[in-house]
Amino acid sequence: MPLTSPERISIVEVAPRDGLQAEDRTLSTDVKLELLDRLAESGHTAIEATSFVSAKAVPQLADAERLMKLLKPRAGVRYTALVPNQTGLERALACGVREIAVFASASESYSRKNLNQSRDAAIAGYEPVIARAKAAGVRVRGYLSMVVADPWDGPTPAPLVADLSRRLLDFGCDEISLGDTIGVGTPGEVTALLGALRRGDVPIAKVAFHFHDTYGQALANVLAAMAEGILTFDASVGGIGGSPFAKMAGGNLATEDLVWMCRGIGIETGVDLDKLVATSRWLGERLGRELPAHVSRAMSIPRS
Ligand code: MG
Repeated sequence: MPLTSPERISIVEVAPRDGLQAEDRTLSTDVKLELLDRLAESGHTAIEATSFVSAKAVPQLADAERLMKLLKPRAGVRYTALVPNQTGLERALACGVREIAVFASASESYSRKNLNQSRDAAIAGYEPVIARAKAAGVRVRGYLSMVVADPWDGPTPAPLVADLSRRLLDFGCDEISLGDTIGVGTPGEVTALLGALRRGDVPIAKVAFHFHDTYGQALANVLAAMAEGILTFDASVGGIGGSPFAKMAGGNLATEDLVWMCRGIGIETGVDLDKLVATSRWLGERLGRELPAHVSRAMSIPRS
C-alpha cells in the first residue's frame, strides 16, 4: 500500500466513448443508453458518453446527437462529450451537453496522424473552443495523449508535458487527463512525470491520469500516481478501448480491476463492484466477445 493512499478517488468512466470507438461492432443508440444507465446505476458520477468528431472518422459514435438528446439528466452524474473543434462544440451545445473534452497530443507524430495538425497548432486551435465552452458555462476536460512515449517519436520529455498541461489549463480547462496512450509507462516514468509537473507549477488537483494496460503496468501506475497525490483516474468497463489511430495501443485500464484494487486497499470509489461486473458481462455479450478485464474474467470462473 502506498504511504499516502487516499481515502477516496474519482473514476471517469470512458467505455461509452473511448471504448466503443475501438470496437468492430457498432451498438445501437438504445443499447448505448442502457450502458450509460447501467454505469450510473453502478455508482459512476463521471461518464464520457460520446464524441462529436466526424461520423466518417468514428462511425461507431455517429449517433452522438440522437444519444445526447435522448439521454436524461441524472442528479449527481456528469456526462462528457468529446469535441474536436468549434463545429463539434456547437453540435454538442445544441444537444444540451454540459461538459466537453478536447484532445491534444504531447507528441508531434501522433498529433499529425490523429489530428492532422502539428502539436502546437492543434493545442493553439483549442483556445477559442475552450473559451466559447467556458462562456457557455460548460466544464472542460483536456486530454493530452502520449505523455510517456510515442510509437514514432520515442520518449516524451516530461518537462514538455508539464508545459503543454499548463497551456491547456491556462486556456480554461477545469481538468487535464494525461494519457499513456501506448501503455509503456511504469511507476518510474509516472513518478518522474509527477515531479516535472510539480516543478512546472501544474496544479496536481487538476490532473487526472489515463493509463492503458498494454504492458500490464496500469494498476502499478495508478498506485504510483496516487502516492504523488493524483485522485482522479480514467477507466473503461471491461477494459475496452485503445486508439483507432494507434493500433499498438492496448486496452484501457479496466474499471473493475481498478475498483477491485481500491476495495482491497480501503479506498472509496463509490462504484459497486458486483453491478459493474454484471455490466461488463452484459457489454461483452452485446459486443460479441470476451472483454479483457481481469476481474470480470476471474469472477466468471465457477468455484467448486
Ligand atoms: Mg484510452
